[in-house]
Amino acid sequence: MKLKNAKVVVCGAGGFIGGHLVKSLLDNGANVIRAVDVKPLDEWYQTSPGVANLSLDLKDKDNCMETAEGAEVVFQLAADMGGMGFIENNKALCMLSVLTNTHMLMAAREKGVERFFYASSACVYNGDKQKTPDVVALKEEDAYPALPEDGYGWEKLFSERMCRHFEEDFGLQCRVARYHNVYGPLGTWTGGREKAPAAICRKVIEAKATGKHEIEIWGDGHQTRSFMYIDDCVQGIDKIMHSDDLIATPINLGSSELVSINELLTKIEKIAGVEMKRHYDLNAPQGVAGRNSDNTFIKKVLKWEPKTTLNKGLSNSRAGGRTSPCNRYRTPHRSARS
Ligand code: NAD
Repeated sequence: MKLKNAKVVVCGAGGFIGGHLVKSLLDNGANVIRAVDVKPLDEWYQTSPGVANLSLDLKDKDNCMETAEGAEVVFQLAADMGGMGFIENNKALCMLSVLTNTHMLMAAREKGVERFFYASSACVYNGDKQKTPDVVALKEEDAYPALPEDGYGWEKLFSERMCRHFEEDFGLQCRVARYHNVYGPLGTWTGGREKAPAAICRKVIEAKATGKHEIEIWGDGHQTRSFMYIDDCVQGIDKIMHSDDLIATPINLGSSELVSINELLTKIEKIAGVEMKRHYDLNAPQGVAGRNSDNTFIKKVLKWEPKTTLNKGLSNSRAGGRTSPCNRYRTPHRSARS
């Protein structure tokens, strides 16, 4: 399917990835008829001109019906989520995103939407396969037998399956991407929902500003992850949505460059030109011991995988990045919801 000139709706457009996605869709000639987010407009990380930017709660089915009206393609990225600090302490809130996913799928079906994109997560993977920092990279089939991240991961896995059954039973074409840690300009960097790269960058910047070169790391710093730069994420979404072969089959969308949190900090220190004294909080939320993306499947079906190295992406974020005129992460105003 071609997205050029297609009537497109983006849900979660006031957030980090959704905002970049709207911009990229417009750049590539899609007709973005609506961008929707529960946040008031002045709290969106970015808005694009020429689009109807609507502040609606998509847990409500009537709002989903209004959102899907006239759309050929829906991108469903709206979710109550954040980094480990948020998802470990807000499991019920994370699970309530099931209302958003259910109602958006129902609305897409009832309004005759052709193709539906769902933003899933690497948090769906079985925890038993992520017990050591030198983890074997996760293949798509490693989500089963199911033992996902409590709360957030279970909701994502359930919603993935709903997409599959909406495709099988109702013919709604669904595409499901499992993102692995996305970072870049205009991401959440404070307020409790920020993820490791943004949190560490903020702490390093604060240390430079105050002259107190000390940092608290959650866990022992040996836990490993891969991090995908936002440009790769948006490009991957585009490729996945254009594919006619991926029939509601979840696909990894992540970098396969594995680093420990200690190594991530070292890279950020080098860019910032500062060295920090490290303190480890072993009681803080830290998630699984190791997680990486096996990209065999995406390379096979799309002949592509995320390529931006962590060094390049972090330097790009510092410089503002191609995707953003801004050289800083954006402050979220979420006190009412977090
Ligand atoms: P984000 O928090 O910046 O964006 C999500 C947006 O959804 C927010 O602006 C939020 O206000 C909105 N939202 C929440 N509940 C809503 C509702 N009921 N109605 C309407 N809007 C609502 O997060 P993001 O990093 O841009 O993530 C986008 C999607 O990708 C999410 O579904 C997330 O679970 C998934 N994901 C992200 C990452 C990552 O590293 N950023 C990793 C895995 C999966």
